[in-house]
Amino acid sequence: MFDLVIIGGGPGGYPAAIRAAQLGMKVACVETRTRMGGTCLNIGCIPSKALLESSERFMAAKTEFATHGVEFDGLRLNLANLLDHKDKVVSGLGDGIDYLFRKHKITRLLGTGSIPGPGQVSVTAADGASQTLQAKAIVIATGSAGATLPNVPIDEDRIVSSTGALSFAQVPEHLVVIGAGYVGLELGSVWQRLGSKVTVIEYLDRITPGMDAELARALHKVLQQQGFEFRLSQKVASARIDGDAVVLSVEPSNGGAGEELRADRVLVSVGRRPYIDGLGLDAIGVARDRKGFITVDAQWRTNVEGIYAIGDVIGGPMLAHKATEEGIALAEQLAGLPGHVNYGAIPAIVYTAPEAASVGLSEEALKDAGVNYKVGRFPFNANSRARAKAQTEGLAKVLADAETDRILGVHILGPEAGSLIHEAVVAMEFHGAADDLARTCHAHPTLPEALKEAAMDVGKWAIHSA
Ligand code: FAD
Repeated sequence: MFDLVIIGGGPGGYPAAIRAAQLGMKVACVETRTRMGGTCLNIGCIPSKALLESSERFMAAKTEFATHGVEFDGLRLNLANLLDHKDKVVSGLGDGIDYLFRKHKITRLLGTGSIPGPGQVSVTAADGASQTLQAKAIVIATGSAGATLPNVPIDEDRIVSSTGALSFAQVPEHLVVIGAGYVGLELGSVWQRLGSKVTVIEYLDRITPGMDAELARALHKVLQQQGFEFRLSQKVASARIDGDAVVLSVEPSNGGAGEELRADRVLVSVGRRPYIDGLGLDAIGVARDRKGFITVDAQWRTNVEGIYAIGDVIGGPMLAHKATEEGIALAEQLAGLPGHVNYGAIPAIVYTAPEAASVGLSEEALKDAGVNYKVGRFPFNANSRARAKAQTEGLAKVLADAETDRILGVHILGPEAGSLIHEAVVAMEFHGAADDLARTCHAHPTLPEALKEAAMDVGKWAIHSA
């Protein structure tokens, strides 16, 4: 009998397993993939960030080094080495999770898990052999899969999901990205930097839905300057293969005459859906919402006693760190501790160059909620370190309650925004005010000074404001 059996070894499931084992539980984790780490490690966060790091260096050598007086001849891309680096990063981190499982004596079962009844998990291996485990508690952490479009069949060769776009053997000449969310913009950036012409088709009239609109507009402009072509308010009705090319039929989102667009590769990145295939949830009556996400209460309990769910499969921000927070908090709750996740302070980052990072509410969400707020902004072109780096695009923006000054949202577009945002996350976690950030001493000359000055601008006393 296990205290806890977790189905899915992604960033939700595997930290839950480790935390539960730390707290003295007898734990098993069932995972179909041979390598732990889920979508994030195998085909998501990690390989995409390895490609972004490498392609950013290539781009910097091409376009930025000369500004710093570094000149050389004969720059060329070795795509095989670049892809090899990505694969090594992924396998090294996978080995790290295996080590942690051994260290914490977690039983790792290779196979597909299903729940024949409360308190039971069946594991079926690839060769068909199966076994049934008894569990006091079961956690479903089976994650998500890429959404698809009707009439745009993914073959992972010419028409790819994000997985295919992590491993093109050659740099596409023309890559069409369907969907201007963060996955499409990140992978579009990788191939654009390596030499592809990139066209992004987006159904809505803006990129990165949900992001503070001022930031999204600024990101749109920067990416356009980098060479991205955006076709907003358009939809792809169908795709067909014509020799070496893909021919897309593209139409205005709200109807009207369409046109054909040819590309040699197409990336479909139109969101993700919860993954529950084969779990047998209908037979045991686990409730799901309209979109198929498993419904849980504030303690991640499903409607069936003893069965819990975390991560992408329950919806909310479909991000690795949100899944991890839930996994750890749930393990603590099962051990009788007060596990908790603050959903109001979960950062979201788009790893383009410059990066776009947010925490808390956007200006639009505050307006919609009728909140009386103040705003402070500071541009990176007035930040001395950004000038030294010659990376001056973007701004930091702080939104605070008009009466209490409490920070309600922070949005940063700029160099290293994905790291800078964490200062704001901590401030929000501690219910900080804009004035707390503004009056905290920041070392000079550093990028975080831009955030401090944006917080000072909430009170309209930023020193370096134009
Ligand atoms: P998953 O990571 O999807 O893990 C679920 C695991 O369960 C999988 O390994 C699957 O094989 C296994 N499984 C499913 N069903 C069964 C079964 N029946 N039996 C056994 N095993 C099963 N998020 C970020 O925070 N930062 C990023 O930079 C980022 N970049 C991304 C880039 C891309 C290209 C993609 C696609 C996603 C990215 N994400 C990123 C999102 C992130 O990967 C997910 O939010 C995260 O992986 C969700 O974690 P999870 O544990 O809920 O599920």
